[in-house]
Amino acid sequence: MVPGARLIVLGKQGAGKGTQCVRLSRHYVIPHISTGDMLRAAVKQQTDLGREATRYMDAGELVPDELLLSMLDRRLAQDDTRGRGFCLDGFPRTAAQAEALDGLLAPFELDVVINLEVPTKLVLGRLASRRVCVDCGANYSTFAPPKVDWICDICGGEVVQRPDDTEAAITRRLDLYEKETAPLISWYSRSNRLIGVDGEGSPDEVTDRLIRAIDEQRRPRAGE
Ligand code: AMP
Repeated sequence: MVPGARLIVLGKQGAGKGTQCVRLSRHYVIPHISTGDMLRAAVKQQTDLGREATRYMDAGELVPDELLLSMLDRRLAQDDTRGRGFCLDGFPRTAAQAEALDGLLAPFELDVVINLEVPTKLVLGRLASRRVCVDCGANYSTFAPPKVDWICDICGGEVVQRPDDTEAAITRRLDLYEKETAPLISWYSRSNRLIGVDGEGSPDEVTDRLIRAIDEQRRPRAGE
């Protein structure tokens, strides 16, 4: 395993992107950057960005780029991401964001874009049963809850249902995914950066599949 990588994981909400990005970031020793987690932290801290973003997030709408891009630019400019790379989760979600990302990363390029493929029927069930830690973002479900009374096994935070995991917001997010995010799959495959990975199965099975596919696809980087 060669540490360091610039990865994006695309996929519908509920495809398991968050869980798999955490695992990939541990494997490749890279930061996990989730725009959803960053926005939820801003909401919790009641920053100006958080106050603006809440109404979009709760309705399942996309937060406007002018709010999001400077937040991401600051994160990507930090030493850890410049030096080692990242596993980007929840960004880009539109063609305009994908183009902006190439600009933010220059002179570096993405190594691999993964499309984590899971049928819609399956993600609907996963989203309805999903529960998350308000502090560290760890994912649980009503079928696999934390060991003690909705207290996070990892950090002791409270484990709750996300405010945007309502039926209306889930439907809106899946519509937006089809309209805005799914076209990115052909956009990235035209530049030979995309690999499709089957996201069905246990988390361990999916992680093994992802690592195999990434290692196969990854071009050796200069100096490594
Ligand atoms: P996620 O945790 O990735 O499902 O994101 C939760 C919510 O944050 C989304 O439904 C959007 O409202 C907002 N959000 C996260 N990432 C983006 C993005 N790349 N563009 C616009 N809005 C985003």
